Amino acid sequence: MWSNNPQKEFDKLLKTVEKNEVVDALVSGSDPADNLDMLKLAYDFAFEAHKGQNRVSGEPYIIHPLATAQKLAEMKLDITTIIAGLLHDVPKDTDKTIEDIEKNFGHDTVKLVAGITKLGQLKYRGMERYAENLRKMFVAMSDDIRVILIKFADRLHNLKTLDALPPEKQFRIAKETLEIYAPIADRLSIGKIKGELEDLAFKYVYSEDYKWINKIIPGEYRAKERYLEKIKDEVRKKLAQSNIKINEISLQGRTKHLYSLYKKLLRPEINRDISRVYDLIALRLIVPTVTDCYSVLGILHSMYRPMPGRIKDYIANPKPNGYQSLHTTVFAEDGEVVEFQIRTNDMHDLAEYGIAAHWNYKETGGKLNTRNMKWLNELVEWQKQIKDNDQFLQTIKFDIFQNRIFVFTPKGDVIDLPEGATPIDFAYYVHSNLGDKCVGSKVNDQLVNLGYQLKSGDIVEIIIDKNRKAPNPDWLEMAKTSVAKSKIRAGINRNKDPFKLLKNIKIIK
Ligand code: MN
Repeated sequence: MWSNNPQKEFDKLLKTVEKNEVVDALVSGSDPADNLDMLKLAYDFAFEAHKGQNRVSGEPYIIHPLATAQKLAEMKLDITTIIAGLLHDVPKDTDKTIEDIEKNFGHDTVKLVAGITKLGQLKYRGMERYAENLRKMFVAMSDDIRVILIKFADRLHNLKTLDALPPEKQFRIAKETLEIYAPIADRLSIGKIKGELEDLAFKYVYSEDYKWINKIIPGEYRAKERYLEKIKDEVRKKLAQSNIKINEISLQGRTKHLYSLYKKLLRPEINRDISRVYDLIALRLIVPTVTDCYSVLGILHSMYRPMPGRIKDYIANPKPNGYQSLHTTVFAEDGEVVEFQIRTNDMHDLAEYGIAAHWNYKETGGKLNTRNMKWLNELVEWQKQIKDNDQFLQTIKFDIFQNRIFVFTPKGDVIDLPEGATPIDFAYYVHSNLGDKCVGSKVNDQLVNLGYQLKSGDIVEIIIDKNRKAPNPDWLEMAKTSVAKSKIRAGINRNKDPFKLLKNIKIIK
């Protein structure tokens, strides 16, 4: 819990940053002392600026920016981001200005603080009236991804202190979290933050179901937990006979992510019956090397019979967001089904913090340039073209706030697309040329229509005609993603050359 003692909280922050900095220094040879001095200056500056202010909950205001910065430090973000977290409410709520911050902390910090301030304070009244804000958010993100990370940390602390606000405000803020922030965190594959945002918001948006789920969980959960503790001991003993060092073996409960369990319970095939949720708890093993991961998998399969079709090698075939692990579901004693997840420490960090892990901000200045983040840059390009807010929202709902599927190229590369996407979307996602020259498609070796609805795991092959000049306007109906639609339009326009058209006209006598 947060105390009312800012100095104590700042000491905690210093300690967390110090630990990160020492690790950083080992890698880059930089001097941690400079950064810690800067952090102290930022704290004094924020402390002075917010002096005399209290939050609705009654605690001194500075506790909030401190909590925001602490979260960013725990996410192992760079010092500039942590300082910006300390200063994020200064221009909005105090006499100090953006210029004051620039003078004291330089250009990089002020860019982040200004980014947060610009996101605006628009009240959430449903996605329909939120288009302008979403546009701002995506532009800010593509400019510097750290802005949205600060926003997440800010929102997390606001949710933790939501009880102090009147009920309608609680509902509005929690709903915005579930409908906007959590899906974005998910899309950036920051699973840990997504889960925290959802679980904190859950009880304010669906309070009755929140009570219901807390009532039904304990019984089911404890029975499974006792059983898995037994399995855990068996596995530990068996692995002790090998040379593999186990860094961690732990139970991973879905109860840690209550909201995602809730969504699962609402699926028609589960129909609110918790006994039908098989992966209520999984066993997670963290080992030093990739080779160890495969060795552990082999040992587990020698102990228990694996369930066919449930061995997933996300190490050889990472998910598009970079997620790596081995998953297997086995039949343990008495036919009980148990899921295992096996990974290295690096893979674990990535699974928890996604793009926030191992991100070299100093080199990239927060710019997104990895292949996995291509979608965000394309989205920003595209949203500049679309002036109509309704059309913008329709597509954004599809591109971002929709479940994703993972399909494969014939060479085995993973492509992630929104649910409902078609081979046309796939073709344009891979390359404009592949889209423009496309004449047909095969899914899992079967010829399918270009408007066919793809499913996760499909292997998609695009058949092309090298002489094809332009996309077919009918494809606009088949394409579901903004990327494909805008590329089809561009392709059609390029070929609207009047002389070309003339040449193609058959003269009817
Ligand atoms: Mn704030």
